[in-house]
Amino acid sequence: MLVIISFFIAHWYLSLFTQTFFHHRYAAHGTFTMSRFWEKFFHVVSFVFQGSSYLSPYAYGVMHRLHHAYADTEKDPHSPKYDKNIFTMMWRTRGIYKAIDEGTAAIDPKFTKGVPKWRAFDRFAENGLVRSLWVVLYIVLYYFYADQWWLYVLIPIHAVMGPFHGVIINWFAHKYGYRNFEVKDTSMNLMPVDVLMLGEGLHNNHHKYGGRAKFSVKWFEFDPVYPIIWFFDKIGIIKIKKKDPLDYMG
Ligand SMILES: [Zn+2]
Ligand SMILES: [Zn+2]
Repeated sequence: MLVIISFFIAHWYLSLFTQTFFHHRYAAHGTFTMSRFWEKFFHVVSFVFQGSSYLSPYAYGVMHRLHHAYADTEKDPHSPKYDKNIFTMMWRTRGIYKAIDEGTAAIDPKFTKGVPKWRAFDRFAENGLVRSLWVVLYIVLYYFYADQWWLYVLIPIHAVMGPFHGVIINWFAHKYGYRNFEVKDTSMNLMPVDVLMLGEGLHNNHHKYGGRAKFSVKWFEFDPVYPIIWFFDKIGIIKIKKKDPLDYMG
């Protein structure tokens, strides 16, 4: 049981880390820059950590830019205001993601400019067989280490980990929580110390300051990924674009 719980926690956080660090803060918002080498490096690391639910940083980045531009309007790719329930929202988001990923959606170039694109790698990582092999790997691991039957209910979460994290923010952080800023959309901060969603839950702050690398604003808020970003900047892996006065450890 300890092995399985550790594996679940590791998968949860490593997958979420690549999503918030690489897909969200880098690909979509460009809050920091990195060399071609590190870009490819984090692209591959995202595949390893996200596994069967690997998301294309390009498709994610473009779709997410649309979300910020049209948040909570008819043109928003996902909004609890326009989708009846969490499942219809997920299904609509999936369709838009696929259209961007496959290049069939007509997108204004301002939404695609500078978003990292590695089509050949994405084709491989999103291949149905590759995705299935990851799921087989999860099942094999559970087969050997899950000593209680109920642990198997976690396998579907492993399989859809990336979109599972996405939907928590896209639905709940546009519905529940508190607001620091009266922005036009319905974004909320789910919790002041966001250990579960690695800072992504500070969503109202993020909608107000989309270009900031750090998602916490008030003294009582904490974004656990920012110290890592700060460290990567210090040792030269990345370069934070805008260091505003709100950034601690600037
Ligand atoms: Zn949002
Ligand atoms: Zn964003």
